[in-house]
Amino acid sequence: MALEERDFDVIVVGCGCAGAIAAYVAAKKGKSVLVVERGEYAGAKNMTGGRIYAHSLRAVFDEYADGEVDWDEIPFERKITHERIAMMDPASNMTIDYTSENLGEAGQESYSVLRGEFDQWLMGLVEEGGCEIIPGIAVEALLKDEGGCVTGIRAGEDEITAHVVIVAEGQNSLLAERFLGAPRPKANQMAVGIKEVFELDEKTIEDRFLTPEGEGAAMLFVGDCTHGVVGGGFMYANKTSVSLGLVSTISEMEKADTTIYQAMEDFKNHPAVAPIIRGAEMVEHSGHMVSEGGAEMVSELVHDGALVAGDAAMLCMNLGYMVRGMDLAVASGRFAAEAACEAIDAENVSRAGLAGYKTRMDGSFVMKDLRTFAKWPHTMETWERMFTDYPKMVGEIFDSMFVVDGTPQQPLRKRIMPIVKQRGLFKLAKEVKGALSAL
Ligand SMILES: Cc1cc2nc3c(=O)[nH]c(=O)nc-3n(C[C@H](O)[C@H](O)[C@H](O)COP(=O)(O)OP(=O)(O)OC[C@H]3O[C@@H](n4cnc5c(N)ncnc54)[C@H](O)[C@@H]3O)c2cc1C
Repeated sequence: MALEERDFDVIVVGCGCAGAIAAYVAAKKGKSVLVVERGEYAGAKNMTGGRIYAHSLRAVFDEYADGEVDWDEIPFERKITHERIAMMDPASNMTIDYTSENLGEAGQESYSVLRGEFDQWLMGLVEEGGCEIIPGIAVEALLKDEGGCVTGIRAGEDEITAHVVIVAEGQNSLLAERFLGAPRPKANQMAVGIKEVFELDEKTIEDRFLTPEGEGAAMLFVGDCTHGVVGGGFMYANKTSVSLGLVSTISEMEKADTTIYQAMEDFKNHPAVAPIIRGAEMVEHSGHMVSEGGAEMVSELVHDGALVAGDAAMLCMNLGYMVRGMDLAVASGRFAAEAACEAIDAENVSRAGLAGYKTRMDGSFVMKDLRTFAKWPHTMETWERMFTDYPKMVGEIFDSMFVVDGTPQQPLRKRIMPIVKQRGLFKLAKEVKGALSAL
């Protein structure tokens, strides 16, 4: 049966990573596309840690850009060539610093980003691609026909119709919840993230992060940064600023001896962090929700007349040593657009007609990675000692190695074993084995 007349082929709700790429791809495939973005401009309210793994963006441009996107003009901050993982207790900090040429290779590289700039660039791309954009208005409702098939959106006074609506409105998607039956996430599945951006000149950043000119470092912290509750800290070197923040699940923060704001103050003053931001001016402060539940949280992706992409579908992974959401958002936006165009061409935008989205997602790294690490959120949530006792233990081990006070020293083995045994050698091995099997 031929499709009914609509105002647009595709409406995309939200111009973040998922929405912008969905709109770009659908327009490249010759469809008429409307993007509605509630921010005055794209990125106005968006927040990430953040570092984007570039592979999915490269894949989109390789396929669709016909050479018109100059990679060097994308407003990335710095290519991340140093990975640092830190365990901190109130008085100490142990950092593993890893660098490798492989981190910078095209197709497997990652970049620090500031969403204000990055999302505006994405929106420019969408506009140049021929999409119509309505900024500054939030979509309040999805329109449906008598059969329950989504037929468009309501934004302010306007009702606008489309063959397919792609919901890419990010975390806390009220549209997915109210109109597509997505369940409300539980408090232990959602984290609150806060972030501050500190301005520093380029050279000072490179000196303090110990990176070559133009390159950057990513640093994730565990332990005292969240006052010992489940969560972590992050720090990314941008061109002329440092992004610093904390993430902790809502249910965990309720157990903490402090608020996330006070934890952030303490984090900034920790001896491992304070020298890096010394003398820097704080120019931005933001807060955002982030889903932490992994594969278990992913909501229904395909509906009659609608698809859900990016954070709106809870496509986010926090593995402790890395956070990924943007590369998943980019890939899901692309797959949603491809499936929407395919369904429109086949004149079947029912759930069955749009099923190509799920097939693409299931066959891609997005769902495969989410499933591989499906057990990790629960493991992390119940691994309390990782956030309290282990950072302390690591501090004690390194103190026992490096503190020299003139007292005759025991062999290293005799200094370290009691510290580890005190925590229960067997329990420790079991916990580490459990964690490794979830990663
Ligand atoms: C503290 C923190 C740290 C993170 N660190 C990282 C990291 O280092 N690396 C990484 O890959 N990921 C990270 N993430 C996750 C990542 O930011 C998200 O996965 C990613 O931004 C999702 O993109 P999206 O396009 O789905 O949603 P968003 O980027 O949130 O975009 C949604 C868009 O929709 C708009 N919108 C919302 N509601 C409406 C509406 N009703 N009508 C119209 N428009 C609407 C918003 O204004 C926004 O522009 C982090 C997240 C947080 C909170």
